[in-house]
Amino acid sequence: MPIFEYKCKKCGHITEFLEKHSDPRKHVCEKCKSPDLQKLLSTFAAGHSSGSTSQSNGSCPTGTCPLS
Ligand SMILES: [Zn+2]
Repeated sequence: MPIFEYKCKKCGHITEFLEKHSDPRKHVCEKCKSPDLQKLLSTFAAGHSSGSTSQSNGSCPTGTCPLS
């Protein structure tokens, strides 16, 4: 069963909810009861890996080796 995190836009509190397809309840902040929540990406998918373009795979890490 997937767990999703929602961040309250009012108080910033993060609440975790179990989401079922058969039970599409409206989530509210468990702290201030505000329904104004922002859904967060799951932690394993939220990594901003912008620098993971594997540039140093070849024998020349800079691409300007004279022996290439
Ligand atoms: Zn709140």
